[in-house]
Amino acid sequence: MQSYYQNYIDGAWVDGGAGRIDVINPGTGETLAQHALADAGDVARAVAAAKRVHESGALSSLRPVERGRMVQAMGRYILDHIDTLAEILTLEQGKPLWEARIELEGSARYFEYYGNQAETVEGRSIPLGAAYYDFTAYEPFGVSAHVIPWNYPVEMTARSLSAALATANTVVIKTPELTPISCYIFAHAAEAAGLPKGAVNILCGYGHEAGAALTAHPDVRQIVFTGSVQTGKIIATAAAQNVVPCVLELGGKSGAIVHRDADLDAFTDNVRWGIYFNAGQVCSAMSRIIVHEDRKDELVERVSTLAKSLSVGPGIERPDFGANMGAMVSDAQRDRAVAMVADAQAQGATLVTGGHKLNRPGAFLEPTVLSDVQPGMTVAQEEIFGPVVSVMSFKTPDQAIEIANGTPYGLVGGTFTQNIDQAMRDAQRIRAGQVFVNEWYAGGVETPFGGYGQSGYGREKGREALWNYVQTKNIAIKLGG
Ligand code: NAD
Repeated sequence: MQSYYQNYIDGAWVDGGAGRIDVINPGTGETLAQHALADAGDVARAVAAAKRVHESGALSSLRPVERGRMVQAMGRYILDHIDTLAEILTLEQGKPLWEARIELEGSARYFEYYGNQAETVEGRSIPLGAAYYDFTAYEPFGVSAHVIPWNYPVEMTARSLSAALATANTVVIKTPELTPISCYIFAHAAEAAGLPKGAVNILCGYGHEAGAALTAHPDVRQIVFTGSVQTGKIIATAAAQNVVPCVLELGGKSGAIVHRDADLDAFTDNVRWGIYFNAGQVCSAMSRIIVHEDRKDELVERVSTLAKSLSVGPGIERPDFGANMGAMVSDAQRDRAVAMVADAQAQGATLVTGGHKLNRPGAFLEPTVLSDVQPGMTVAQEEIFGPVVSVMSFKTPDQAIEIANGTPYGLVGGTFTQNIDQAMRDAQRIRAGQVFVNEWYAGGVETPFGGYGQSGYGREKGREALWNYVQTKNIAIKLGG
């Protein structure tokens, strides 16, 4: 690792006007490296570079297949450097090494998918009678600004960057303060793929400083934000001031309904991924289990056994897939989760297992199970963003839906049953952008993802996401003669 990483503006590595930030290894609590911090001046230079490239037509005048090949090449570059990059990601974010590899493989997949889609963005012709010829074309917005969270810094950047480039936008990325380092890979990947200088700019800075300057910049024509509801509201306000569209991918408090006939062995495996993957720091985590009262005790016992089976420690010492979990991203996030668990107990929830920090340096929290959680409790309403699952019970299917839908969020939801009619009824009634039946996280890069309610608006992933990055132009021609 280098001891200091710079920002990447207009094809050059540069210091930040706001100085430097220490990046902490959450697996040890020690400083890992420093990173440059951008100020508003750096942001302005990055936006100017992106605007210049956009206006030059360097991306938009290409035949889409050529642009698509460059996007695909960026994904291959990530895979070619996966060993080094996985270590850096693990060291700055805390996840086990095998999970870092999954994140990077997922990131590369976005470039493969959207690289392939580049030449499928086609307009249509609209009949207006013999005197006219009319057709639509999709054009890029221009400078697209992406503000990234710390939980999947590489994958969240890959998700929006790949689609934005495939549709010929130029991009300024504001990386997260806690995990800014691994995004350096996109600069190298863009250069290796032959993108012009200034097409991709990557800078770390404080949200209230660089993030705010970027999202308020008058030359930014479209914004993609992934992060908390609180920040999402600030960014939507900034976008409204400049009358530019934004995609908001925000948090969640997603619930899995477990019916009386569910296969509990299969379900427990889903819990392992649903709430303990990335130490629960997943926007679409299974943070609530809503189980039929007849199966509750059996389920709590299985989930508690699962939680106790996970070995928790530094991600770098966990290279292989298995029953293990890494650190949370920071001591502050871990302490917040511990406090929310204690508060849940004070409100009447039962702590089945976990709930404490480990007696060692690093941001570690025991895999935690809370039972007897009531729908109105804070822990059932607010996102913890940690390895904490709340078990609640229901008597009737109507009640299960009421609990599932009873939060301000609506990112994902799930139902587990062997009865197809029940599954379909739940799928119709769950208020969320994505419903999983009998497998949490079923889907992929191809399937649209985004929230109902306070989980945000707009969709990422799938072909649907492409339309975030283009604007429709209609061309109507009056024929002479
Ligand atoms: P956050 O909102 O604190 O920060 C996200 C980003 O916004 C960071 O880069 C930060 O610097 C920046 N930011 C902060 N204030 C800003 C401002 N005033 N103007 C512009 N930018 C600003 O979120 P976080 O703590 O990094 O991430 C966790 C949250 O992200 C959780 O709520 C999680 O659910 C959500 N998330 C959602 C998705 C999704 O796809 N829906 C994916 C990952 C994370």
